[in-house]
Amino acid sequence: MYKVTSFVLKIVSRCNLNCSYCYMYNMGDQTYLKQPKFMALETVQFFANRLRDYCESSEIKYVQIVFHGGEPLLAKPDYFEKCVSIFKTTAPKVEFVFTIQTNGVTLDQNWYTLFQKLEISVGISIDGPKKYHDEYRVFHNGKGSYNLVAKAIQLGNKNRLAGLLLVVNIGIPVHDLYTEMKNLAVNSLNLLLPDGHYDQAPLGLDVNKWNDKNYTPYADWFIDLYKIWKADKERPKIYFFESLVKLIMGQDGIGNQLIGRRTNGVLVVESDGSVEVVDSLRACFEGITRNEINVHNNKLEDLFEDETFQLYYKAHDHVAEQCLNCPVFDICGGGFLGHRYSEENGFDNPTMYCQDMVRLIAFIQNDILNALPAESVAELDTERLVYENVIKGFSTENKIKIDPVMQQKLVSFKKELHI
Ligand code: SF4
Repeated sequence: MYKVTSFVLKIVSRCNLNCSYCYMYNMGDQTYLKQPKFMALETVQFFANRLRDYCESSEIKYVQIVFHGGEPLLAKPDYFEKCVSIFKTTAPKVEFVFTIQTNGVTLDQNWYTLFQKLEISVGISIDGPKKYHDEYRVFHNGKGSYNLVAKAIQLGNKNRLAGLLLVVNIGIPVHDLYTEMKNLAVNSLNLLLPDGHYDQAPLGLDVNKWNDKNYTPYADWFIDLYKIWKADKERPKIYFFESLVKLIMGQDGIGNQLIGRRTNGVLVVESDGSVEVVDSLRACFEGITRNEINVHNNKLEDLFEDETFQLYYKAHDHVAEQCLNCPVFDICGGGFLGHRYSEENGFDNPTMYCQDMVRLIAFIQNDILNALPAESVAELDTERLVYENVIKGFSTENKIKIDPVMQQKLVSFKKELHI
């Protein structure tokens, strides 16, 4: 039984920026070109009808709607008024949480005033200090977008800005990044690992060192940031760190598509009404998320028959054998599905950030244990970890064997079997 409560609406399929690492425009998949530029309000209404029916039949009371793109602020202000009205009048029994994820370059006071009126919480994407942000988050003419984004963030501090989203760039010295966040008075920040997989290394990774068992550039970066963050009494919320700490402490219901063991109850509606699995999987290969399902013709539940959705929904159960035997599996969850892809094995791999996750989780886990009194440590079902031992354990024979049917399923997603 599947339960989806988060719906990402691609209301605009184009963007006023051209970020070099963007999965939509610069990695693996060009299918956005076939999409209408804006989601028609008629399509929003069709989706709202499907959503109401799904919520009624599945007894879902709370739903998150994420206005996304491309760049959603390329839509007109009254478009958002109409969308919110459509949802509230079509499904009055459902409680909606509306959010928008924007690049912030056109986000001014008028937008903030509107979003507060409509109770849409705003998240802005940024890459870090100007020098780094402007290297990647550029307009189509190559000009950097930092000045406009920083202005929108500062304005947001007076307008209940929900938080920032940052794709990690390990080329940014962590001290510079943290200082930047403090200067911008950021209250809440989430960190994303860059999209990439075994055949397409993300920016900043030295592929020549990939087989080195001690090469953990992301963990090294995160650990330095964690130390600065932890020492700061006025620290902002960093969702990635807070989630890891909670997972290590054994808290239930924590995690997302990147970490933990929760199911991924998210689906995406494209601007033509297509209903798909999260689009960041497109960095694997062209068309991986495509199917024939559309809100104009189908119930939302029809996506539950889609093999890619099924795999993604339980991605933290459907993992490679190494993960099943890993001592940090309950915290890492095998990583984001898209980071596990290789042309050789499909999804039958640990995340490409596996060594980094072991190093980072071991560090935070040991740090927590060191800070706790001995009697509290004894109550926790958690042990001190030595990175080298965990990595060495990966080369010994696995006690838990992967179900051969599941392994076959993971491998069946190889690109060559889909073209
Ligand atoms: S750390 Fe590596 S082996 Fe362990 S669960 Fe994560 S991806 Fe799998």
